[in-house]
Formats: sequence, C-alpha cells, structure tokens
Amino acid sequence: MKFSRQTTLRAQASVAGVGVHSGLPVTLTLGPAPVDAGFIFVRTGLEGSDREVQATAEQVIATDFATVLGDRDGPLVSTAEHVLAALRGMGVDNATIEIDGPEVPIMDGSAAAFIAAIDQAGIVTQPAQRRFIQVLKPISVKIGDSVGEIRPHANGFRVEVEIDFTNPVIGQQAYAFDLNPEGFRREVGRARTFGLMCDVARLWSAGYALGASFDNTVVFDDERLLNTEGLRYSDECARHKVLDVIGDLSLAGLPLLGAYHSVRGGHKLNHAVLTALLTDRTAWRVVEGEAARRTTRAVGEVGRGIVGGRIAAAFGPDVS
Ligand SMILES: [Zn+2]
Repeated sequence: MKFSRQTTLRAQASVAGVGVHSGLPVTLTLGPAPVDAGFIFVRTGLEGSDREVQATAEQVIATDFATVLGDRDGPLVSTAEHVLAALRGMGVDNATIEIDGPEVPIMDGSAAAFIAAIDQAGIVTQPAQRRFIQVLKPISVKIGDSVGEIRPHANGFRVEVEIDFTNPVIGQQAYAFDLNPEGFRREVGRARTFGLMCDVARLWSAGYALGASFDNTVVFDDERLLNTEGLRYSDECARHKVLDVIGDLSLAGLPLLGAYHSVRGGHKLNHAVLTALLTDRTAWRVVEGEAARRTTRAVGEVGRGIVGGRIAAAFGPDVS
C-alpha cells in the first residue's frame, strides 16, 4: 500500500443484484466522499428520510452469517463485507455506498462486480495525507476452536488465513496475502462465497440464504464441488476468507498497518479481534503519510517469519 494521499471515487457507479440472505432485489451505488469521511452507507427507499451508517466496528450489530451494520433503531445494511473489501482492497479511503434495500447484493459471490464499479467510477487522490491505524502489539482472541490474532507488521497490511473443514472436499487450506490493489484484483477479489449443501436447509429454515444459488455461491457436498463451472482457484475458499477479513477489518475506519492471522475464522472472530484491538489504546496509534513510512521501517522485521505467497497448514484436524 502506498503511503500517500487519501483517495475517493471520481464519479458514481451502480450495480444491481439480489441479497444472498433476503433474496430481495437491490441496487448499490458507489460514490465520492470527502477527506476523512471513510466509508458511509446510505440506506434509501425507506419511509421518511434516508439513513446513514458509518462503516465502523461500533456499528456492527450482528455477525452470524454476514456482517450487519445498524444503529439504535436496528439493522440497516446486511452483508457489508464484500463491497467494503473491494473499496479497501483497491485503495479507496473515502466513499459513499448507497443501497435501496436491506442487504448488499451478492452479485457472483465475490468482490468482482464492486471492483468493476470502482474501475468504472475511477479513483482520484484528495488533498490530505492518508492516515493509518498502526498495530503496536499483538492482540489475540479465541472463540471455541477459532483463533484470531493481529500483530505489528513491518510493511503494510497482511492477512493469513487457515481453514479446516471436516468436509473432505474443502479440507485444510491456507492462504496469505499482502494487501495491494493489483494483487487484490487478481488473487483475492474474484474468490466466491462458499457453503455446504447440508447447511442450506438449516439456513433456509432460519431465514437465511434465500437468494443463494449456484450463480453466487460455491457449493460442496461430502464428495464433490456441485458447481458445474468449477473453482476459480484450487484454494478459492481460503482466498474468500481473506476477502472477508479485508472487508471486516476495514471497519477499523482507517487502513491497518499490521498482520492478521486467523485459524477457522469467520465474521464473528474478525469483529472480536478488531474490537479487542481498538478498545486497547496501548495496542495501536494513528500515523499518517510520510510518518507511516518512517515508523513502519523502524518496526523492521518484527512479526515477519512467513515469506512467499502461502503459509503452511500448520495445524492438525482437531487442534483447538
Ligand atoms: Zn464472504
């Protein structure tokens, strides 16, 4: 990530689709926002006036199957993570995200449609230094057999994900990614949402996944992948988890300088680690522009130790 000026979108660009959980049609429009605005959802189509919600960790009100933002009056925007990942992943600092329904459209299950909308709108720099949240000490959270940790990192923002499914087709996968826009576009942004066939009936009975189909979800049963078009990457599931992390951790409100590692993670764990970090005022500080470049150099190689594009799957099937 460049240590330079803040960016926003040059113009508006829209995408239309359905919500994966609600099944409802929705149009989403990305647009410019002022310096230091961050990402702001604007919910239109309500009775009365439009409502805004800042995309920050404090506004998260549910993380069960997706990340849901809202306020005291209830949920406003569900499944926020993929469009947020696209904005952060492509190096946008400030944007409005207008939607006329309760859920961000799932599109093809990845961030590709949002990346295309960002390309269409164009990215422009703004007259202010980019600011970052620099992680100063490791913070870890354990939820059941899931573990997440964020730690200081010498260079930008790194995500390391390990997944371990009893489903033998998914199995164990690991993927690590150093965030940069072109890498995000090529390696992570196209990785789709995935699920297990045996979970679908359970989700439907709970009122979720009503819009899920083979057009927007990679589906596995115990023996094989059910989508006829196949996978986009052999480790598409782990890459999608990286995509979710980038979206969920964008709720820090500023780009992070640090490394995040999760084992069997999900939205709940991502949110818990981010909240634990932000509530410990000794664990981070805000740095900007040239100062960020100098401080991360000063951090040196601390926290490094895994190089290359991948990490080894360093866990057994029943490690908790
Ligand atoms: Zn996702």
